[in-house]
Amino acid sequence: MIRHCCIAGDIGGSNIRVSLVAEDFRILSKLKEPSGGEPLVVLIRLIQELLNNLPPAMSCCGIGLAVAGIIDKSSGTVLRSPNIQSLSGLGLGSAIKDKFGLPVIIENDANAAAYGERVAGAGRDFEDFVMLTLGTGIGGGIVIAGRLLAVSAEIGHATINMTGPQCGCGNSGCLESYASATAIIGNAVAALKNDSESMLKDLHNGNIYKISAEDIYNAALEGDPLARTLLRDAGRALGIGIANIINYFSPQAVILTGGLLGAWNIYVEAAMAEASKRAFPELYERTRIIASSLGDDAGTVGMAALVLNRPKGLKLKKN
Ligand SMILES: [Zn+2]
Repeated sequence: MIRHCCIAGDIGGSNIRVSLVAEDFRILSKLKEPSGGEPLVVLIRLIQELLNNLPPAMSCCGIGLAVAGIIDKSSGTVLRSPNIQSLSGLGLGSAIKDKFGLPVIIENDANAAAYGERVAGAGRDFEDFVMLTLGTGIGGGIVIAGRLLAVSAEIGHATINMTGPQCGCGNSGCLESYASATAIIGNAVAALKNDSESMLKDLHNGNIYKISAEDIYNAALEGDPLARTLLRDAGRALGIGIANIINYFSPQAVILTGGLLGAWNIYVEAAMAEASKRAFPELYERTRIIASSLGDDAGTVGMAALVLNRPKGLKLKKN
């Protein structure tokens, strides 16, 4: 019996993940590596490794890749990826298709995560929701009337401060310059250089440049005042972003994902408090703010769903 599977990958600012996914969306195997300086080289090597180790009687029918950035879906070109500069302008779809001879779909990573949650996660029960991926950057995916909107929802680059700091996208005062893990770490380093008292100073043998977002929320959970202030401020900024989303779309839910949710009680609760002050109360009350249920696998499941359900043009290999 031949069974079908696909390869679904997620190319983020920090890591590249590729998985072999069965037609029932079970993840059969997973590989993960830091993106490094040459993400395309790493990606091709990881995909080759999965294909070399296909289980017997399993046929791979396509490759779906989620990328942090703006995608031209018709050509599979990454038009711009602010956090992975080397992908900007790259014909990723054709490069992978030429290499492996399989159908390839490229999609924005937050769109893929939103679709994954819609198909098999926390979005199953909602017709209208907005997904926010909170990590190195902040991405957005929008599901309206049960369908993924075919737009680049660059919600992380919505301006929330007219005179804010410069962002990697070229704009200034973007949401992700305040509320992303990168922003929180940057603010921690700046505060420690200014001699702020904090238990963060003693980590990594005093090398403040090695502090991670996880270090910060662990310190916050232990009551460190600086870490708590940093997360609360970032959460307030996130709340401004969420209030804007609620006022624009009036979704049934805003679904959040990313490592920062470990600090839910500080970061997300500050966001909720801020959003409730800024959004129209009638709209805020109707919106649930919840965590993703697929976590890191949302993008993988979403890409697999796109590849495996693709109605036309996907020829299943026969052997
Ligand atoms: Zn920006």
